[in-house]
Amino acid sequence: MDVSHILDSLNEAQRDAVAGPVGSALILAGAGSGKTRVLTHRIAWLIQTEGVSPYSILAVTFTNRAAAEMRGRIESLLAMPIRGMWVGTFHSIAHRLLRMHWQEAGLQQNFQILDADDQLRLVKRVMKNLNLDEKKWPARQAAWFINNQKDEGLRPKHIEDYGDIYIKTHLQVYRAYEEACERGGMVDFAELLLRAHELWLNNSRLLQHYQDRFTTLLVDEFQDTNSIQYAWLQVLAGDRDNITVVGDDDQSIYGWRGAKIENIQRFTKDFPKARTIRLEQNYRSTGNILKAANGLIKQNAGRLGKELWTDGNDGDLIKLYAGYNEIDEARYIIECVKQWSREGNRFCDAAVLYRSNAQSRVLEEALLRSRLPYRIYGGQRFFERAEIRNALAYMRLLAGRDADAAFERVVNTPTRGIGDRTVDQIRLLARSKNISMWRAASAIAEGDSLPSRSRNAVGNLIGLVNSLDETTRGTDLAGLVEIVVEQSGLKAYYEKERGERGQARLENLAELVTAARTFDPEDVFVFDNDVFGEQSPEEVAETVELSLLEQFLNHAALEAGEGQGDANQDCVQLMTMHSAKGLEFPLVFLAGMEEGLFPHRMSLEEPGRLEEERRLCYVGVTRAMKQLYLTYAETRRMHGSDTYNRPSRFVGEIPQELIQEVRSQNSLVRPAGRSMRVSARVSTIGKDLEIEGTDLKLGQRVTHAKFGEGVVVNYEGEGKQARVQVNFVDEGSKWLMTAYAKLEPVP
Ligand code: ATP
Ligand code: MG
Repeated sequence: MDVSHILDSLNEAQRDAVAGPVGSALILAGAGSGKTRVLTHRIAWLIQTEGVSPYSILAVTFTNRAAAEMRGRIESLLAMPIRGMWVGTFHSIAHRLLRMHWQEAGLQQNFQILDADDQLRLVKRVMKNLNLDEKKWPARQAAWFINNQKDEGLRPKHIEDYGDIYIKTHLQVYRAYEEACERGGMVDFAELLLRAHELWLNNSRLLQHYQDRFTTLLVDEFQDTNSIQYAWLQVLAGDRDNITVVGDDDQSIYGWRGAKIENIQRFTKDFPKARTIRLEQNYRSTGNILKAANGLIKQNAGRLGKELWTDGNDGDLIKLYAGYNEIDEARYIIECVKQWSREGNRFCDAAVLYRSNAQSRVLEEALLRSRLPYRIYGGQRFFERAEIRNALAYMRLLAGRDADAAFERVVNTPTRGIGDRTVDQIRLLARSKNISMWRAASAIAEGDSLPSRSRNAVGNLIGLVNSLDETTRGTDLAGLVEIVVEQSGLKAYYEKERGERGQARLENLAELVTAARTFDPEDVFVFDNDVFGEQSPEEVAETVELSLLEQFLNHAALEAGEGQGDANQDCVQLMTMHSAKGLEFPLVFLAGMEEGLFPHRMSLEEPGRLEEERRLCYVGVTRAMKQLYLTYAETRRMHGSDTYNRPSRFVGEIPQELIQEVRSQNSLVRPAGRSMRVSARVSTIGKDLEIEGTDLKLGQRVTHAKFGEGVVVNYEGEGKQARVQVNFVDEGSKWLMTAYAKLEPVP
């Protein structure tokens, strides 16, 4: 049989790993050295030359997408479909086992899976029944406790409270939560793994069956397995000693979720016969990107230690861009992506990676304005998040009470005692009289068709919206959002949802205030140049004639619904650095390289977490194949307020000779007196200040008839199309067409 092509295009170490004898192996190697490729080729090799049946192979990947990709590659290597092989994430494999063996696992046949939200809600309910004070005992913390115990394989009966009130209370919740899950036939994510493990422990015949079946085990991204996943694998592997794991200790980024780097060392102890193979040649990135990654990760202590090299070119230097603010940062990224596309490249080969989901909003808005197709992976788009939609729904009712969808959305959010039956009544009345739900609700609140409790609850909602309307009259858009978030009760509602998720929701709501504060229909006009042709902002405002609130809501609706390309479209890729694990892109931007943002401020106190942030940065850098841009903003509006952060220490840890500081093509000037230089090689600003075809220059003081005095900080285009960005003293920053704005230079 011709097997040579499976070993083609592999280097010697990779070939050794792929074609080595059957038996356990640890492939420990840095990013882009072909670990995933080796795993795929190994499977193909085993099937083709060792006669291993696909049916006896179980491969674990980190995402479902990676699983699909792996299967596809193996099929194309073997030029035939493969059936019977199991490839999936730990969770999906555990889920499959439990569905097949629900009885042995002690589950109800139609057990339901609880996602993190559902779980939290259930924990809350349980705690309420136990009469625990939510302020003292946040539900999120209890859920965290439960998940941690499960990740360690511990049931309540295994846990000793040592008289510690913290453990004692949480243990009580854990017990009651477990009972509720049993009764309702519910299984959370951590439970999937623990049950699958217990399935082995409690059913020796079943275990024997699977040990006989899955004689070949392979695991990708092994550095991110937690205790229970490790234990599950170990039991399944049994004495057969045929498990291949690949990983990179430098890319362990899920410690905060219980992953254990130590599993790598443990593996060599538990499987002493395992061969250890190191791959050191990198095939993904240019020399400069690789040197940057090596320099960065060297700062971490306690590494297993490895150095990557490439025989490819050094390639371009790593570009560093200092945005004036986050909007300028986004604008610059888009300018580069456009250039990339003009050079004949595909959008999908460009990825923008960031530390926190909240960063995506500004990027998304800028992409939409410039009409570039984009796609966000692993994470919801800003305007689609539940808390944002809820706040917007209240605002929609303020703009017009007859917005039924908005009414339905918030009728009982936050909970105010309007049950499903009452909502049904409102709906019914609205339909029969052909009126809006708001009007139907008003009629019901005044009539006597409902018991007084429900009637009052409906009356309260109506009163609330009317009073919001009164309170917000005359306030600006940002003020309006702030009042709505506060007085609708949404803020308090999410405050109760403690822990990271609740915190994230509050941060997003604060971000909505920022979005409103910086919302400028003229901005939309400037970027939508091709749609509005050459109308001036004033003309546009006249023809549209919508209130600012309405324009903002339209803008939000558009953002929630459109712009996101479908799966097959050629789109710019947006994702967090966590979700970029294992992937590669020719062009990569790491946005928001600022202290406090990345490394995240929560990690600054603990050396262990700081190192994890650095590994995350290493993951980000090593996603890039050809070009890498690091960008940061000198001022950033985050969570509703301005922050002035220094550039990330990670930028400084990259050998400086690899970094080239760049300016936008549309030269950018920072306000005098504040400069955030990372090194002494900041390009000198001062020349190129003149804006062609105008009597303006960067840094120039100007006055505008409506907006007053300001400073020109940026420009785009030239001649009749020239636009300038002016920082107005009272009105903040605005983009204006020089041809219409009639800016007067102040001497
Ligand atoms: P990560 O740590 O990021 O998961 P990895 O070690 O799994 O990376 P792969 O994704 O398998 O690395 O490989 C990185 C890139 O290098 C891929 O595009 C792969 O096709 C290519 N590659 C790997 N080995 C070779 C080789 N011997 N010849 C040519 N290309 C290779
Ligand atoms: Mg990989």
